[in-house]
Amino acid sequence: MSIAFLNDSYMPIGEAKISPLDRGFLFGDGIYEVIPSYEGKLLGFTGHIDRMLDGLAGIGLVLDWTHDQWKSLCQELLTQNGNGNLGIYLQVSRGADNKRYHAFPEAVAPTIFGFTFAIPSSPIADRTAAKRYSVITTQDLRWQRCHIKSTALLGNVLHFQQGHEQGNDEALLYNANNELTEASSCNAFIVKDGVVITPPLDNQLLPGITRNMLIDILRKDGSIPVEERVVSMSEVHAADEIWITSSTKEVGAVTTIDGNPVGTGDIGDTWIKAQTLFSNHKYDY
Ligand code: PMP
Repeated sequence: MSIAFLNDSYMPIGEAKISPLDRGFLFGDGIYEVIPSYEGKLLGFTGHIDRMLDGLAGIGLVLDWTHDQWKSLCQELLTQNGNGNLGIYLQVSRGADNKRYHAFPEAVAPTIFGFTFAIPSSPIADRTAAKRYSVITTQDLRWQRCHIKSTALLGNVLHFQQGHEQGNDEALLYNANNELTEASSCNAFIVKDGVVITPPLDNQLLPGITRNMLIDILRKDGSIPVEERVVSMSEVHAADEIWITSSTKEVGAVTTIDGNPVGTGDIGDTWIKAQTLFSNHKYDY
């Protein structure tokens, strides 16, 4: 059984217990992170912790942990779980009060939780081996603070489930103006005429670490133009390629949208270049 961290100790995950009055349980009042690691090497650690600290500040949850403390926790979790290819899940909730009351409690210690889970081996930029993702499209009905990586994920879960029930891997979401926001658990990119395009960061989407790394890697390489701008759904449906990015998928090539082929219906050349560059540079972050 995997070893988890809860508050101040490590234990088999089946022995980790929290109070039913924990605000993470009652209200989804917490922030989480998922950091990928391969053979003990963490990917994008600083960006992930920065985002978690931004999220905690964004919901007024005060916790005085430093990056070094988070790093020690991650490394200890990896060691105790035998390294390998592991995602590290970290969560901080506002803790357990002695009553259920919406206002933030005073003098309640946050609940800190971490565990690891197996992730697939590092994706490789190989057209024959790569997974082909299929997506539906649906209107984004989540809340208006999607830049916060809150544990309150029911909006995302319901969208993911919509795609899942129709036999798809993801749901691409669009706002009331028919503009792409992201997917229910990933950021989204399109490729048109060799240009990689993704929606700009705002309250409608999570500032994905993979998204940021990919944009930075592509811009430093310079051979593929990248634009961060509003993307209409008509552009999505007319795209040559669609990608979804997340820490465990890296750059995922979408080949089916609403049952129709994306571009030629096969994995595109720009994806091959982008995932190759990502694989070569991901440990720089
Ligand atoms: N958007 C949403 C809604 C997510 O849940 C995630 C993470 N699964 C992402 C984007 C991608 O973020 P990251 O690249 O940091 O994993």
